[in-house]
Amino acid sequence: MDSDLREPEEDRASDRPSWHAVSAVEALSRLGASAAGLSKEEAAKRLRRHGPNALPEPARRTILAIVFGQLKSPLIYLLIAAAVVSLWLGEIDDAGFILLVLAINTTIGAVQEWRAETHTAALRSAIQTTSRVLRGGRVKRIDASQLVPGDIVHLEAGERIPADLRLLQAAELQTDESSLTGESLPVDKAASDALPEDTPLADRMTMLFAGTMVQRGRAEGLVVETGSRTQFGRIAQTLEVSSAEPPLTRRMARFSHVLGAVALALVAGVIAVQLLQGHSLQATFLVAIALAVSIIPEGLPVAVTVALSVATRHMARRHVIVRHLPAVEGLGACTVIATDKTGTLTVNQLTAKRVWLPDEGLVAVGGEGFSLDAAFTKDGVPLEGSAYEALASLGVSSALCNDATFDPTLGAQSGSGDTVDLAFLVLAVKASLDPGRLRRHTPRLAEIPFSAERKFAATLNRHGDGHRLHVKGAAEVIVPLCRGNRHREALEIAEGMAGDGYRVLAVATKRIAPVFSHEQPFPDQELCGLTLLGLVGFIDPLRPEAREAVAQCRRAGVAVKMVTGDHPSTALAIARDLGIAERSEDVLTGRDLAALAFEPHCIAALAAKASVFARVEPAQKVEIVDALQAAGHVVAMTGDGVNDAPALHRADLGVAMGRGGTDVARDAADLVLTDDNFASIVAGVEEGRAAYANIRKVIYLLISTGAAEVVMFLLAVGTGLPVPLTAIQLLWLNLVTNGGQDVALAFERREPGLLDQPPRSPKEPIFDRLMIRQVAISGIYTGLVAYVFFAWLIGQGMGAFEARNLLLFLMVAFENVHVFNCRSEQRSAFATPFRNNWPLVAAVVGAQSVHIAAAFLPGVRDVLQMQPISLGMWLILVPIAGSVLVVMEIDKLLRRLSSQRTSAPPAAARTPP
Ligand code: ADP
Ligand code: MG
Repeated sequence: MDSDLREPEEDRASDRPSWHAVSAVEALSRLGASAAGLSKEEAAKRLRRHGPNALPEPARRTILAIVFGQLKSPLIYLLIAAAVVSLWLGEIDDAGFILLVLAINTTIGAVQEWRAETHTAALRSAIQTTSRVLRGGRVKRIDASQLVPGDIVHLEAGERIPADLRLLQAAELQTDESSLTGESLPVDKAASDALPEDTPLADRMTMLFAGTMVQRGRAEGLVVETGSRTQFGRIAQTLEVSSAEPPLTRRMARFSHVLGAVALALVAGVIAVQLLQGHSLQATFLVAIALAVSIIPEGLPVAVTVALSVATRHMARRHVIVRHLPAVEGLGACTVIATDKTGTLTVNQLTAKRVWLPDEGLVAVGGEGFSLDAAFTKDGVPLEGSAYEALASLGVSSALCNDATFDPTLGAQSGSGDTVDLAFLVLAVKASLDPGRLRRHTPRLAEIPFSAERKFAATLNRHGDGHRLHVKGAAEVIVPLCRGNRHREALEIAEGMAGDGYRVLAVATKRIAPVFSHEQPFPDQELCGLTLLGLVGFIDPLRPEAREAVAQCRRAGVAVKMVTGDHPSTALAIARDLGIAERSEDVLTGRDLAALAFEPHCIAALAAKASVFARVEPAQKVEIVDALQAAGHVVAMTGDGVNDAPALHRADLGVAMGRGGTDVARDAADLVLTDDNFASIVAGVEEGRAAYANIRKVIYLLISTGAAEVVMFLLAVGTGLPVPLTAIQLLWLNLVTNGGQDVALAFERREPGLLDQPPRSPKEPIFDRLMIRQVAISGIYTGLVAYVFFAWLIGQGMGAFEARNLLLFLMVAFENVHVFNCRSEQRSAFATPFRNNWPLVAAVVGAQSVHIAAAFLPGVRDVLQMQPISLGMWLILVPIAGSVLVVMEIDKLLRRLSSQRTSAPPAAARTPP
């Protein structure tokens, strides 16, 4: 029947059946679909009608919510208290000004937070889910949002189910429905007949649900519902989107609170002294609040958020998508990267180069990569006769025990599917076989899909002359299942090829007695007495950047460890090439790990020493993470398969692959590499370190300026001078020296040489010795000089009003100069070019100008008790303000000299903890 005639019926919602209660054939016909899939036009038409297969965006926090979030801080409470006191004193102007400060603070914070959040939302959508769909008779990979009811989708282990599906075919299928039903055990699925109408959701074994994952096996399913009409879509509205705060942000908030307490104590002291000296309670109270405001680093939480968000933006540009913000901080402290081999260190483009045929010996395969024309030669002579036939039989099994496809007219480049399968398919075509025809003539009856645990795949096909098994997989798994007495020889050949860096797989076959049933399980008991057809050695070239990235890690004090399911010899050959390992003692195998399972201490010691983990099963990756963590490491672990998810969760930094990996792995990861490239992890480490350094810079700025103000105040009040600045002036000072500069500092471009230092210890507090030293020197110096200046003015007989005006000018200049000290902890301010941070330069120039302008503005200057100062005065103030630069430069110089003198060993030679 023409599908057009079906449309109106399919459209009526009330007509939509309970899909589990109909047979597959019925479901197909109800949706006007056919086994060949929808046509392109039909799919487009349905997409217009049903809309994209996506859930409505989760509601974002509104601007208003963000603003109210900003208001919940001790700083705001203090300012409100100050405004109330001012009103009580009858100082309407002051109260108005305080409210203005409050508004400006809130606005800056809210705008920055809004921007950071917008950015995170954009990143989240950068990781798209794609699906393989049958359209117009061909399997294509499309964006999952383009799926429509009636589409036929192909799924394999690790994929996220993109829509609600009625199963048409399934092989060993199990799904993880925990996201939908909470059931944590895998659920068996099969394409069986209609189920009773009242079958509960959890038991609908013929259905796959959007948002759940394929845990095992393969499936072909008919899309029956999309978008918000899926089971998941219906409950999605009730789900809360939780956005956990990074621990760093939380730690910073706590840090501000501690400082707040310190501030209050100091302030209480000031109040006591002032009262003793006979000042009025209200005026004292106001000054005390203003002083507290200058101590509390109110800009810190926002600046941290901004620094992290800037880092995620830089990382995205360098192919690292951050899924969890804390990962940025973690990357900076990472001490070991445990990485996959295939696809991450190598390009994952396998080419068969060697074939060993049991009766014919070693055959060389010509042609690079996806090129299809190639010569098979033995000892330099083209292959022919019985040898060619033996090769062709190997080709037949390679093509049938295989799920890759490519369009022969477009070449192998157009291929899709597992890279090992694709390489086998290319080999078959090179051997002059036609895989498409072959597969049509020998339909598949049952299969064991490849899994990293089993290390092989097998199919049962119906041939003209009976049924046959086709098996391919790791040599040491397949060879023992074969007939004959040449196991030793075959394994030695395999070992030899592996030692040369080839990835070696064995191919075998077996004829079995036909079983006449329509649907049958795989005959596991027949997996023995196979005929070995041969061994195939593939090369997988190294990624060009990999070697340099490994060397960079070594300089950065980050150990690199290769974790692979591949053969130890292959792994070692490649690790040697990369400079990761030298000798076979550096290799630990999955079997070694299993043997040590009851000696966690041994494992930790061995794992810390080993640099290659070969023939490990995904489940063992968790042990490796545990062992490395026990040895004191901060571990980044990569993974791409379904079974890697636990290890990705367990690692300090789970890294998944954006291209090659599975949705399950991406869901479990903290970071996703959009180019699957090891070098990107190293880039991430660099950006993570840069982000941490920037946060330190912000803290330095905020704490040291507050310290300077406190020192100046305590000295003045302690020595009986008038209050050096009014409350309003203090608030103003805080605004024009920290208001924008702190956030701008978070944009500082990363300094060179970040990857030439060992990683920071994860236990190291932010307020370490260096930080205390910097804050103490700059705070005491600035506060002392300002106090002496003020005392001198008063001593000259100048009135308090004028002296305060000059002191305010000096403090603003001091702190705006000091901003440039904060741009680097080690490097000279003069070696840090302005172009590395234009926002900062703009913030400083802007704030300084606003301050100067304020002295001229009637109204404003009255509230601030300011007046313009003479050029002569500027000539005195500028050198004094500039001196803080000189002092801090000398400190940096001394530190550089002393670190040269103690002459620490070069970073490369140091080992991480
Ligand atoms: P890696 O860590 O290099 O990605 P895998 O875990 O993917 O290794 O594979 C482990 C072993 O399983 C391989 O060395 C190979 O022998 C075998 N293997 C890999 N892919 C396939 C496949 N598609 N079919 C059959 N066997 C495979
Ligand atoms: Mg693999």
